[in-house]
Amino acid sequence: MSINREVKVTCPHCDAVSPFQIWLSVNTAQNPELKGSIRDRSLFQFECPYCGEKTAVDYGMLYHDPDNKELIHYAINKENADEVYHMLTDDDKKGAFSSIFDQKYLIRIVRSKNQLLEKLALFDAEYDDRLIELYKYHLEKAFREEHPESENVEILFFSDPEGNPMLQIFNNCETQGVVPLNNSSYYELLQKHEKEMRDFREDDPVVDQEWVKTFLSPAYFEKPDIPRNTDYEIN
Ligand SMILES: [Zn+2]
Repeated sequence: MSINREVKVTCPHCDAVSPFQIWLSVNTAQNPELKGSIRDRSLFQFECPYCGEKTAVDYGMLYHDPDNKELIHYAINKENADEVYHMLTDDDKKGAFSSIFDQKYLIRIVRSKNQLLEKLALFDAEYDDRLIELYKYHLEKAFREEHPESENVEILFFSDPEGNPMLQIFNNCETQGVVPLNNSSYYELLQKHEKEMRDFREDDPVVDQEWVKTFLSPAYFEKPDIPRNTDYEIN
């Protein structure tokens, strides 16, 4: 079910206070028009009715696409992310979600608007986000070798206006460049890892660079019946 709420936003330009509608939950079957307004960020954009200035507003939400069976929870803080994570993964709490597990929902928890938009872009383009994180892990390693002075590197996937898969590299939130995703490298990663990965829709709800570290460690394979490939480059 889609849920919205009106909040007051103070315009940083003229200080006028105006109402703004935020969406705590978006169900794309119920409100298909919101699919586009999340992706173009207009759902997160406040336009001041007094001075016309546009301001980005950030808020957490649950994105639910029943047609593609996708559920993405954007947690605005760590406490909320942890709470939702435990609801989805603790055995004694999981029962409440048996219906979404039975339907093999793709479930993810993200911690920023950028991550939410990234997940949407790559699921729209039918990529496996775990392989994209592995791809980013290798790309970041290469980038750091070339730019040893870099500090907080973040790489985000997006589709350009022609629909080409791209990766944008940031250092300390400043863009350092954009590179196209090499599909043959992506499929190489797929071939190398698919046999030892869990089902795409049954893996951990948090898939990010921390997930990569777990995947490249023995912990991922504690679950029986997943063969261990020792052919890794662990750094
Ligand atoms: Zn204003």
